[in-house]
Amino acid sequence: MSAPNYLWNPPPPPSLPVIGNTARFPVKRIFCVGRNYHAHAVEMGRPVDKASMKPFYFTKSPSALVESGATVPYPTGTTNYHYEMELVVAIGAHGFRLAATDAQGLIYGYAAGLDMTRRDLQLVARDQGRPWDLGKDFERSAVCSAILPIGDLGVLASGAITLQVNGGTRQSADLSQLIWNIPELLADLSQFYHLEPGDIIYTGTPEGVGAVKPGDRITGHIDRVGEVALTIGQPE
Ligand code: MN
Repeated sequence: MSAPNYLWNPPPPPSLPVIGNTARFPVKRIFCVGRNYHAHAVEMGRPVDKASMKPFYFTKSPSALVESGATVPYPTGTTNYHYEMELVVAIGAHGFRLAATDAQGLIYGYAAGLDMTRRDLQLVARDQGRPWDLGKDFERSAVCSAILPIGDLGVLASGAITLQVNGGTRQSADLSQLIWNIPELLADLSQFYHLEPGDIIYTGTPEGVGAVKPGDRITGHIDRVGEVALTIGQPE
């Protein structure tokens, strides 16, 4: 069979570096979990009762991916551009209708991510019952570190997660405060999607989200996982 003939050269798949491997991790889909730390849910005015509620998700286009260390222009259409520091889980195997006890086998590794958000547009959409895409799925909105293979880490259940802007701490929490933990998230998400190698999942942000402006430097850290950095440039 001959190779397909395209009108123009398709771009290479979005991908992330892998620590200790010259091969890169090709990113297939980007899932994000909303309101997965109690204190953040409260600061957004939408507390979570795990006993009566389920996790919810939104997605970002893989083309929105940006590698840690980049400088990105302040995005168009917003005057309230927010950081959200998050643990990212990278999927390395197929999984469908998983039990939580089987979740670990799907995990390729972990990364430190920023779910950059046009908060003003997200809140207008939320309050009008509209999709969140303009607030969440925009160009360069999914920032991610290199992926650390799971190795001996197992299912991460604790570890400090912090974010600084220009060196000042803005977010400081622990992965043990996730409302739905990693196995619960993978089990739940796999009821709705066939999880596949290359999927990455932003697991939600702790409290302390806030705005950044041109010239700001964001750095985030997750114990045993890594660091993510982003510099905000001038508007386009
Ligand atoms: Mn988020």
